[in-house]
Amino acid sequence: NLDQRMPESEIPELNQLGVSFNSMASSIEDVEKRRRELISDLTHELRTPLTVVRGYLEELADGRVEPSPEIYSRLVRETRRLERLIHDLQELSKAEAGYLSINAKKINIRPLIVSLVGRFADQLLEEGPVLKLDCPAELPPVLADLDRTEQILVNLLGNAIRYTEQGSITVKAWKDNRQLWIAIIDTGVGIAQEDLPFVFERFWRADRSRASYSGGTGIGLAITRRLVELQGGKIEVESEVGQGSTFRFCLPIA
Ligand code: ADP
Repeated sequence: NLDQRMPESEIPELNQLGVSFNSMASSIEDVEKRRRELISDLTHELRTPLTVVRGYLEELADGRVEPSPEIYSRLVRETRRLERLIHDLQELSKAEAGYLSINAKKINIRPLIVSLVGRFADQLLEEGPVLKLDCPAELPPVLADLDRTEQILVNLLGNAIRYTEQGSITVKAWKDNRQLWIAIIDTGVGIAQEDLPFVFERFWRADRSRASYSGGTGIGLAITRRLVELQGGKIEVESEVGQGSTFRFCLPIA
């Protein structure tokens, strides 16, 4: 009997259910949209180096170009890019599925920082930036996974070097309350303010052509953020175009 039915607004549970259902439906749509974007980004990322490799191989096979060291090194570079892309994707999917195991222990992070700074300093060209360390002699131990922390530092230092032509890259560490902060400060190309909210999104790159020239995949920072968060820390960025960027992250003090 319709007349006896209560008006909808008088059944709060029903209203609530409606609201929950709507928000569920829209979050399913969001997931589906992200999945489609991911596949389309992925296809693009994989196709670009493949097209270059196939193009050169066909020209070589037809005798349209002579084999040369330049062509071979371009082929090697593009193949490496594919390799790196696949490796990064594997890491990212593990991280997103929660399979990246974190083996957090009480560790002393200073020796890791010092050895990485030494390793990266050896790779720098004479005309490139200098690498500096700004770290007190004593740092409190943190509760973290040594390998994952190394991965974070390698990603951030690698980026700093890739996007800095001259000036300096400083690795700074300090204690703040219950956290240990580590910052990688560069004097490189910088990132535009409007781009900053996207830097940790997978496949995001400030300038596709420039980043692709530098061998970037746009996945490194997405993994890096995940690795920091899995260890209970957070990561932040500050940057100014033409001035440089600062990426800093914290880990819980043990
Ligand atoms: P990529 O493999 O392209 O470097 P990342 O996820 O590590 O991927 O970085 C995403 C994008 O963020 C880069 O393509 C670049 O545009 C920008 N970026 C990252 N680090 C820096 C930095 N230190 N200086 C300037 N731009 C940076």
